[in-house]
Formats: sequence, structure tokens, C-alpha cells
Amino acid sequence: MVDVHCHEGTDISDPGIIRIINGTDPESSVNAIESANKNSHVWACVGIHPEEINDSRFMIHELKQNLKRLAQNNKVVGVGEVGLDYRQGISETDKNKQKEIFIKMIELAIETGLPIVVHNRNADEDILQMLYAHSSLLKDKILMHCFTRNTDFMDKMADLGAYFSFGGFLLGENNSRVRKAAKMAPEDRILLETDGPFTKTDVKIVASELARARGLTEVKTDQLTSENARRLFTKMI
Ligand SMILES: [Zn+2]
Repeated sequence: MVDVHCHEGTDISDPGIIRIINGTDPESSVNAIESANKNSHVWACVGIHPEEINDSRFMIHELKQNLKRLAQNNKVVGVGEVGLDYRQGISETDKNKQKEIFIKMIELAIETGLPIVVHNRNADEDILQMLYAHSSLLKDKILMHCFTRNTDFMDKMADLGAYFSFGGFLLGENNSRVRKAAKMAPEDRILLETDGPFTKTDVKIVASELARARGLTEVKTDQLTSENARRLFTKMI
């Protein structure tokens, strides 16, 4: 079983569950690589979360170069977590700054040939526009993590060959939209995640919920999502 998206602080003690730890800034990206180097069942992604970018420590140009250097490590399998987070009341200036960095991260993914792990909060239009602008180079190399959007958006992303990971929102009470997306997503594009440790989700429970939503057995769900993870994160061995 593969938890394709979690963070520093997630319980990685079970060697039977492969984990991909995502960085949210250069420091946590380095820590993710350290965990990956120490644990054969752990892999890393390097990136900058859109909510971190207002930190004045990060110069845009240096950020990309720093992360690019980190991405050379054998255990780095992707660029993430990156994307757009349009919280309520966000200013146009902040949106533009997020977009400026997201473009750099798209370039980083293209230059390194690594898949890109995308965070999206209320930014469907801009995400679509920016990823479509690079559609040929990003084909089959996009992961929409913690997918909670509707099936219209999912279909547009699927045309880009995107993958979709489902996590704790599948277990929530108001989950009909997420369940529908989990049911309708193409079979060769579904993945499991926990987004731990922020959410205390057990990846096995997510797997059984995804199995239920799709009418599959748990064994089949494990097999499919693991195969999909290896197809997307080709550096994982
Ligand atoms: Zn995350």
C-alpha cells in the first residue's frame, strides 16, 4: 500500500506502507529526504506550499535553484507540495505571488522530469489555465492531491493525464462530492493518501472507503492504487 502524500511527523513505523513525504518549504524538504535516506519504504518530494510563500526568507529565484539541487537526490520522486491556495479574502497581490511561484515549480518539474504534486484550494480556473499552458510537458505527470473538487474539474484534469489521490475527506460526513469523484475517477488514476500528520487518517481505512465507493475489493484497490503510484512516481523502486 502506498500513502502518496504525507508530511514530516507522520508515523512511518510500519515498513509495509510505502510513504511519500512532501516538503512544504526548503527545510522540510531536506527533512523529507533525510527520512527517505534512512528508511527504504520512504520517499520524498521537494516543494513549497502556497501558504508558505509570503515568508520573506524565500527569494523566488533561489527557491527554485535550492529545490532543484535537492531534487537530484535518488530518493526524491516528485515536486510537491506546490499549487494555489485561495483562502477566503485573499488579496490579488497574494494570488499573483502564489502564481509566480507555482510557475517556477511547474518549470522545476519540467526541468527535472519529475511529477508535480498539486494543492488546490478554490483555484480551479487558475490551476487549469496554468497546467494547460504546459500540457504537453506535464502529460501524465500531475497529481491532484487530496482531491475534493467536482467531476467537471476532474474530467478536465483527466484530459491532461492527471492522477487523483483521495484521503481523509472520503471519510468525512459531508463527503458526497468527494465520493462521487472517487467513484468516477479513471481506474488507472486513483491513489491513496493521508496528508498526515495534520489529519490523523489511517491509509488502510481510506483504502477500504475507496473500495466501497467504487465497488471493488480491498485487495484489488490496494493493487490498483499501488500500481498507479509506481507508474506516476517512476523513481520509486
Ligand atoms: Zn499536504
